[in-house]
Amino acid sequence: KRWNNLSLTSKVLVGMVLGVTFGLLSRSLFPADPFVTDYVTNGLFNVIGKIFITCLKMLVVPLIFTSLVCGTCSLRDATSLGRLGLKTVGIYLATTCIAITLAILGGLLVQPGIGTNLEGTSTFAAKNAPSLGDVIVGMFPSNPIEAMASGNTLQIIMFALLFGISIAASGEKGKKVADLFMSMNEVMMKLVALLMNVAPYGVFALMARLFTEIEFGAIANLMKYFVLLVAVLITHLFVTYCSMLKIFAGLSPRIFLRKMEDAMMFAFSTASSNATIPVTMETVSRRLGVSNKVASFTIPLGATINMDGTAIMQGVATVFISQAFGIELGLGDYLTVILTATLASVGTAGVPGVGLVMLAMVLQQVGLPLEGIALIMGVDRLLDMVRTAVNITGDCAVTCIVAKSEGEMDLDVFEDPNAASKDE
Ligand code: ASP
Repeated sequence: KRWNNLSLTSKVLVGMVLGVTFGLLSRSLFPADPFVTDYVTNGLFNVIGKIFITCLKMLVVPLIFTSLVCGTCSLRDATSLGRLGLKTVGIYLATTCIAITLAILGGLLVQPGIGTNLEGTSTFAAKNAPSLGDVIVGMFPSNPIEAMASGNTLQIIMFALLFGISIAASGEKGKKVADLFMSMNEVMMKLVALLMNVAPYGVFALMARLFTEIEFGAIANLMKYFVLLVAVLITHLFVTYCSMLKIFAGLSPRIFLRKMEDAMMFAFSTASSNATIPVTMETVSRRLGVSNKVASFTIPLGATINMDGTAIMQGVATVFISQAFGIELGLGDYLTVILTATLASVGTAGVPGVGLVMLAMVLQQVGLPLEGIALIMGVDRLLDMVRTAVNITGDCAVTCIVAKSEGEMDLDVFEDPNAASKDE
């Protein structure tokens, strides 16, 4: 009964803490015990955790499509869409640049790489960073069904926008389609709420498995890198986002952060901005009071193009690797890092571990050895979780700022501490 009375946030938190505790206890009490690894962590927990993540991912494409079509067909004119788009992309890029600049400055100040030994071999092969032209052309789908089948968020967004605009332009006939999508959207949100109910168990399974297996040994060697990276992530979260919310939107950072708890926990447990989209959407629209018009556009877009946490990792890691290998980088190189990391984050979807792939692009651009990645790989899983939480918080902060400036935010919902507790 007590459990049932808890809010969803508390339940997820309990699931998470129990999962971590289980993992830590089982590794110290039964180190490498085949029963634990074969049947419990790699058996039962693996199955539950995978089903949970798969169900979250299952919601992403239909949710983005239906909610964005709804959002666009209720927009009255195309200019407001253009303004919304420009504003959102502009602020996303600006926060990413701030993030990576903070990271590079932090790296230069703390010098985490000095005195690190350089052993390690990397199996990474770097792809070239996409050019701006490629990124723009890549946003247009030649086949919308294929875009949905492969989960290409930018292409789905593009098709949904055009589809929604056409519905609005079709007058009376389009109205029927619009109504259908409105109902579909309600149904999708219900599905999200259903899945949320099992979230505590899914999160428990994910955490228990991860913490039974994760290697902590590497953290001791890379303590400076680890701590610096987490410190910059936290600084960005509390300083950049909070002051932007206060200054540009007059919103209380405290309320914002409290309402973000669920979404952050999901991002942390799944290490994927994409898989977290259903929860992020739910949070901004039902808890923070952002209209569906804005949220349906900015959230999926942000999950793809706005990865401030990942950009911070690129910045700190580049400085760390350059110092570890004793290779000096000049101002021009750092500007290249900022540009490449920003472009790479636009062109890559938010899934676990993709930050390392992007890092390979950045290192190659400034001529640093890719073996550097092997140095930090050991601690990347944990850091991935933390930076994903920052990534989605950035998406939500920018969404609130844009929504407020467009008059698309319900302040009563924002300020109501009980707004849409998801377990009703
Ligand atoms: N896991 C991150 C995300 O989904 C991306 C990364 O930094 O690897 O946002």
